[in-house]
Amino acid sequence: MELIFLGSGGGRWVTITQRLKTGGIVLKVKKDIQIHIDPGPGALVCAYENKISPLSTNAIFVTHCHPDHYNDAEILIEAMTKGMTKVRGVFAGSKSVVEGIEGIGPAVSSYHLSKVEKLFILEPEKKFIINGVEVSCLKAYHTDPTNVGLRLDFDRTLIYTSDTEYRDNIAELYKDADIIVFNVIRPRGERIRGHLCVNDVINILKEVKPKIAILNHFGMKMVDERFKEAKRVEKETGVRTISATDGLSLDLKELKIRGQLRF
Ligand SMILES: [Zn+2]
Repeated sequence: MELIFLGSGGGRWVTITQRLKTGGIVLKVKKDIQIHIDPGPGALVCAYENKISPLSTNAIFVTHCHPDHYNDAEILIEAMTKGMTKVRGVFAGSKSVVEGIEGIGPAVSSYHLSKVEKLFILEPEKKFIINGVEVSCLKAYHTDPTNVGLRLDFDRTLIYTSDTEYRDNIAELYKDADIIVFNVIRPRGERIRGHLCVNDVINILKEVKPKIAILNHFGMKMVDERFKEAKRVEKETGVRTISATDGLSLDLKELKIRGQLRF
């Protein structure tokens, strides 16, 4: 069981400049379950760099219709379906990604979706099961109104907040998790619309206590501050907290980190 960060960057400027990579996250649960979440620009290349074969991916999730989350979805579907020669795998995307909503999306062509074995639209409170992994969609507050967070239950409970704004009751959504991956675009209390800042994460972790919290999806202002900010979160909340780096991997059984980890 492993969680691999193909990219720890997010937001427009980090993505355009590739100050940090934007390949999303890969969850490997068993030998035969490989889920690629939010494959932004470079996801295909990042997968190979991290010795992950996109041909072995059996599910692709895209939480919303912004390019730092969906950009490589189509080429990864092509890999998952063995070059579009087989009907294979799962694709799950927000309504904006799959169907398009007013002014946003769709992000994936009907041609690509035609080769996917199972298609799910991610909507808050919806649940489905893929090869024994229970997937629950969580409400998220973002500029794409159909965005969702994800809760994945297998031997562990993993939460991925996706991009969301802070709300007073938001910690409720993240309770009982072993691991929470927070998309946190800005340091300290520097809130911007539709995103969490580090102080928001601290507020959440005062209410819920995962075994480990991982800060991820950094905007420009977080690039040089992320390790220091992760330490501050840990100090103020008592929750073990690390900053994602490009290529970082978390052993989900032992909750041990492999790869670059700096403070
Ligand atoms: Zn977004």
